[in-house]
Amino acid sequence: MSREQQAVERARKAFLTGRSKQLDYRIMQLKSLQRFLVERSQEICDALKKDLNKSELGTPLYETLGLEGEIGLAVSKLKEWAAPRPVEKNLLTLSDQVFIQPEPLGVVLIIGAWNYPWAVTLQPLIGAIAAGNAAVVKPSEVSAHTSKVMEELLPVYLDKELYPVVTGGVPETQELLRQRFDHIFYTGNPAVGKLVMEAAARHLTPVTLELGGKSPCYIDKDCDITIACRRITWGKFTNCGQTCIAPDYVLCEPSIQDRVVEEIGKCVKEFYTEDPKACEDYGRMINQRHFSRVLGLMEGSTVALGGQSDEAQCYIAPTILRDVQPDSKVMQQEIFGPLLPIVTVSGLDEAIRFINAREKPLALYVFSQDNKLIKRVISETSSGGVLGNDCLVHFSVSALPFGGVGNSGMGSYHGKHSFDQLSHLRGCLIKSLGMEGVNKMRYPPHTAQKLSW
Ligand code: NAD
Repeated sequence: MSREQQAVERARKAFLTGRSKQLDYRIMQLKSLQRFLVERSQEICDALKKDLNKSELGTPLYETLGLEGEIGLAVSKLKEWAAPRPVEKNLLTLSDQVFIQPEPLGVVLIIGAWNYPWAVTLQPLIGAIAAGNAAVVKPSEVSAHTSKVMEELLPVYLDKELYPVVTGGVPETQELLRQRFDHIFYTGNPAVGKLVMEAAARHLTPVTLELGGKSPCYIDKDCDITIACRRITWGKFTNCGQTCIAPDYVLCEPSIQDRVVEEIGKCVKEFYTEDPKACEDYGRMINQRHFSRVLGLMEGSTVALGGQSDEAQCYIAPTILRDVQPDSKVMQQEIFGPLLPIVTVSGLDEAIRFINAREKPLALYVFSQDNKLIKRVISETSSGGVLGNDCLVHFSVSALPFGGVGNSGMGSYHGKHSFDQLSHLRGCLIKSLGMEGVNKMRYPPHTAQKLSW
């Protein structure tokens, strides 16, 4: 029996003991996860520094504070979330108990990605624990240092039978995918998302797919361009552009293109100094493969800012590409790196047509003074999430479902949405044994007299 198979079997056995169903037990495990985040913050930071050159001071903001917030919310709301939810009754069930009872699904497989390796791997785990499941956690092998810390330290804090960490690369993940799960929660690129869904189909296992794509960013010429560019610079170049909801490209009218380049240039200097390579807050590409891939995307486009690179450090400077053609290389795939192409359009109508002609993105950003214009974008396009006048911050609002649509994914999570996503919402009806007269009309023989009653 493979190591992966053993982990799944142990998790299922542990699930069948029923201990993860006890609310107190779930809360204890969540609190333990919280302790892990606090007590092991140094190990977490060190691993992220090695994996992605993340700054120590930035780590809580981008990786762990959100997790702590989600744990706090789940702990305080669990009783309410897990309680029976009474629903509206119809005439025939007026005197009965009719309710939805959330129940755990069983054993969940969580496959994480490497870009925010703690956030995207542990956040689904919080939902899985809160909902009473067992969960096999598979961190990304690409963020190898984080993966190692997770494998070594998580079992010190959590029930290691219920929540085992299985490390490894593609073969190990594929071996996991051959096992039977009750839900698979995958974060990563759409191509692998399809493989995950194919494997899940063999067991009729439901999936949540948190994928990526090219998230557009429209800048209206009548907005405060200085503020817009400040927020876009932050959204784009944080983590060296390796953020699933980073604005992938800008759409704007030609008349403001120079201004956008200039303002983003100023912000790059302000955030990352004249020399981003030496700046503590500026990250690195995760590896050589992604370094070469992203550099290759610049081919055929005009560099308006940045463009420097250093292979030995997997460094690519914050870069703006101007007058980018829709059929250019950089517009054919999710960039997932620090390149910001600007595609000019004649106005909002063309921007909407441009967006709708492509795959549905994970996020969509629109900057404008005009609330009506923002509402029009919301009503005439589709995307996982949409933000007016900012980038990324919707990720931090637990009350909003976070997830994609179409090619950017399916299912959603965060806060109570995680709990519901990883629960079965069971329809329950407990009928009274009295009032049999009311039921007469449904029993044969069906006569006109009964129906007229
Ligand atoms: P990755 O290479 O780490 O892959 C993700 C996981 O899939 C890993 O655990 C890996 O082991 C597994 N995997 C890779 N190839 C596989 C295969 N052939 N068969 C089975 N398993 C396989 O991460 P990635 O895909 O490079 O991550 C970047 C992508 O993830 C981007 O598209 C980004 O937008 C997306 N992403 C989405 C979210 C979100 O919340 N929607 C968050 C982060 C990243």
